[in-house]
Amino acid sequence: EVLKLYDRHLGRATAKLAAQVDLPVEVRSAGARVWDEQDREYLDCGGYGVFLLGHRHPDVLKAVHDQLDRHPLATRSLLSAELAYAAQRLAGTAPAGLEHVYFASTGAEAVETAIKLARAGGRRRLIAMDRGFHGKTLGALSITNRPIFQQPFRPLLPDVDKVAFGDIDELNRALAASEDKACVVVEPVQGEGGVRIPPPGYLAAVAEACRAAGAYLVVDEIQTGLGRLGEWWGCTAEGVVPDMLLTGKGLGGGVMPVSAVLATDEVFAPLDRAPRLHSSTFSGAPIAMAAVLAAIDVIEREDLVRRAATLGESLLTQMSNAVWEAGGDAVREIRGRGLLIGIEFGQPRAAGRFVQALMARRVIVTNPLAADNVVRFSPPAVLSGDEIGWLLEAFSAALAES
Ligand code: PLP
Repeated sequence: EVLKLYDRHLGRATAKLAAQVDLPVEVRSAGARVWDEQDREYLDCGGYGVFLLGHRHPDVLKAVHDQLDRHPLATRSLLSAELAYAAQRLAGTAPAGLEHVYFASTGAEAVETAIKLARAGGRRRLIAMDRGFHGKTLGALSITNRPIFQQPFRPLLPDVDKVAFGDIDELNRALAASEDKACVVVEPVQGEGGVRIPPPGYLAAVAEACRAAGAYLVVDEIQTGLGRLGEWWGCTAEGVVPDMLLTGKGLGGGVMPVSAVLATDEVFAPLDRAPRLHSSTFSGAPIAMAAVLAAIDVIEREDLVRRAATLGESLLTQMSNAVWEAGGDAVREIRGRGLLIGIEFGQPRAAGRFVQALMARRVIVTNPLAADNVVRFSPPAVLSGDEIGWLLEAFSAALAES
């Protein structure tokens, strides 16, 4: 019945694919686990990086329930304490100097906001990275360098340059060639691009190049931030203070959809002066702010940033050993930082078989949106010992079938 409704209302291609692999319906979740309509249990190592705290963390649920019972959505005609405290709390986790916050609901919306703030600050030319991913609204899509997503929707934003991710010389050349002052947008690790990790020191070099050229630097940490990489932020690892820092996905603690732009005094000045320049009905909704406050508390109290670093390192070592033991040449490389781990196959088909073999063992993982030969693991930091065993056993067994 659900499949029929998908077919009729939500898209035939999705329904067809789901029917081919007999995809179940997910009905409930807790921690790292999800259950389907037949009460079969899955280990969620996918989720596009949303579930660092796992599903339905009790503290986030409680905060959201309390807010729901009291005042979920604001009139926006009065002040909101939840919004003010969430802004203070979020800014407190970021590099010093990023005091200003604009909350939104989705990652792409945070990216749109950043592009608008860059333009308002006189940075008209956008420089984005090859295989970067920033979302699919028109502005965000303009800097998401993936022809298959872009082509049907042209013309997109003008004045966008693409440079190779990880190549500082090419960025310097693009900055030098730009007549307008530019805004450079980069991810510390490309998530949807295939868990691509740049050389050490790259982000710091990008920051220096931007400073020298008078360009703004936007670090998109929608996938990598809030501890996912085993650091609060990928940019803190390299001592970088960007002009804007973007967050989303895990920001609502795996319970609420919420994103944010953090900005310096200079970048935020247009909104400081004229708040109506950019706004949205659900921006800073108290129910989302309650989730943000609780999520940051949980990350701190449960030491999840350090947990992501140590668990990630141990998983990467054990997975690398499993790849080595399996032998063969299906796997090209395995790489990761913190709890963002990618295994790159020579062929997309082998990656597809690997995902199916994991699913047969009830382990959920994802293919990055722009790299179909890569399989990505972004497990919660709250995996138990049993769950780690489940994951690693399934990993080795699935490798043997790929
Ligand atoms: N930026 C990055 C780095 C992302 O990984 C994503 C989503 O995968 C986005 C932006 C877009 O976020 P959303 O899908 O919430 O619009």
